[in-house]
Amino acid sequence: MIVVMKKGASQEQVDHVVRRVDELGLKTHVIVGTERTVIAAVGEKREHMKESLRIVSGVDDVVPILAPYKVASREVKSDPTVVVARDLCVGADTIGVIAGPCSVENEQQIIETARAVRAAGATGLRGGAFKPRTSPYSFQGLKEDGLRMLATAREETGLAIVTEVMSTDEVRLVARYADVLQVGARNMQNYRLLEAVGNTPCPVLLKRGPSATMDELLLAAEYILNEGNPNVMLCERGIRTFESHTRFTLPLATVTYLHQKTHLPVVVDPSHGTGHSTLVPDMAAAAVAIGADGLMIEVHPEPDRAMSDGYQSLNFEQFEGTMNKCRRIAAAVGKNL
Ligand code: PEP
Ligand code: MN
Repeated sequence: MIVVMKKGASQEQVDHVVRRVDELGLKTHVIVGTERTVIAAVGEKREHMKESLRIVSGVDDVVPILAPYKVASREVKSDPTVVVARDLCVGADTIGVIAGPCSVENEQQIIETARAVRAAGATGLRGGAFKPRTSPYSFQGLKEDGLRMLATAREETGLAIVTEVMSTDEVRLVARYADVLQVGARNMQNYRLLEAVGNTPCPVLLKRGPSATMDELLLAAEYILNEGNPNVMLCERGIRTFESHTRFTLPLATVTYLHQKTHLPVVVDPSHGTGHSTLVPDMAAAAVAIGADGLMIEVHPEPDRAMSDGYQSLNFEQFEGTMNKCRRIAAAVGKNL
């Protein structure tokens, strides 16, 4: 349930409510809004809890949270969450662009790409060091060496590093180098991993599983939020359908739907979402038009030679063209990019 404080309620009154909710055996999440503070009280509900909290000083009302996800719900927080990592800002009026290769391959590749995407206007650098590959015989990533190369690229360009963490054992290591931890589509429902990233101070980019529903995605985000990490971005990266002309099917209605249901920012990945570099620029532009808060785009100096996902990667010129197009659309919908 949500304990809605009166406008102008004091910090002492908020602290007192938090203590009362704790005593009732519920977990509290305090959300300070522009208008007033609310306290989400999450856990098993018992008789009379609502009535006993309603009469506490400073409390305006106590209302149930109807959605299955609680802290992620718009019911709890109507202001959009803005996730910031260095210059990367995702949410509200600002569209953050995260660009870079599917995998970090060598230092020259990642630094050259970082410089090019920064010059074109990206503020985040993506690049997998730990790669989840369908086949165990495919390139698995450079692991810690790859993380070091990403850190060097950050020193050179100031871009925020977004990189995937695949297992709970590697969370500490990856968090030492990354500005944003990416939880990949295949791990969207790895609940121990979600809890582990929820226990770091790092923002998290949570990718939708290719067969996950919106409620499953939001409940996965809830695992991270429930550990006390409020900086979660949701990423639509396409789902598996009967269609075979694209690698996945990229449903853009997700953006609007999620904005109705959650305050968390929504990033669209048109690279994995289509699997064809020729489809990426228009789908990126469409994502901006529908209100996406961020884009994640694969960019490689020589897509033909990429060690993974080259067929869906843009070269530098194509990326610059995509950014220019997206910038015009962003201006038309009243956002900065
Ligand atoms: C990636 O971003 O490189 C990746 C592996 O994506 P996904 O988890 O969406 O398949
Ligand atoms: Mn990829």
